[in-house]
Amino acid sequence: MRRAVCPGSFDPVTNGHLDIVARASNLFDEVVVAVGVNKSKNRLFTPDERIDMLRTACEPYPNVSVDGFTGLLTDFCRDRGIRTIVKGLRAVSDFDYELQMAQMNASLAEVETVFVPTSPEYSFLASSVVKEDATFGGDVSALLPAFVHERLVRRLAERDQGSR
Ligand code: ADP
Repeated sequence: MRRAVCPGSFDPVTNGHLDIVARASNLFDEVVVAVGVNKSKNRLFTPDERIDMLRTACEPYPNVSVDGFTGLLTDFCRDRGIRTIVKGLRAVSDFDYELQMAQMNASLAEVETVFVPTSPEYSFLASSVVKEDATFGGDVSALLPAFVHERLVRRLAERDQGSR
């Protein structure tokens, strides 16, 4: 059984993430989307909300499951018997960091990182950019599943009210 993990913070999940997950699901028998739930003040959505949105978004892929992880990704892989990490590569700017992480992870456990090149239409797409644009009223509806977009708009409005 070939298993892989697609890790990230997914705050929130975008069509760019889903493109990588869908392609990984074609390459591997089982794919686990691992949502990093380490404490961070800068998240817009809670770990449970991020996991919940991903579960709904991944419903079309029967061999994909979603789980949270804390601590080291390599420990998560070891516990699950997973030896492959799949990461999307957008631009050269992703490469330096991803190469370092891949080499670090390989030194910590028996895991290989496989890079999947982003589809060109998503090469600019990151959750951080989506959140920033949406905060200032940009129309990001084409970049996220419709139900995620709705939750994003609602959350930003709540945050806006809370800060008044
Ligand atoms: P981001 O805020 O950059 O979306 P994440 O930690 O949620 O950050 O992303 C998890 C992983 O998903 C990234 O390391 C990258 O491998 C992949 N990814 C994110 N967006 C894209 C995209 N537009 N195209 C390809 N891969 C992507």
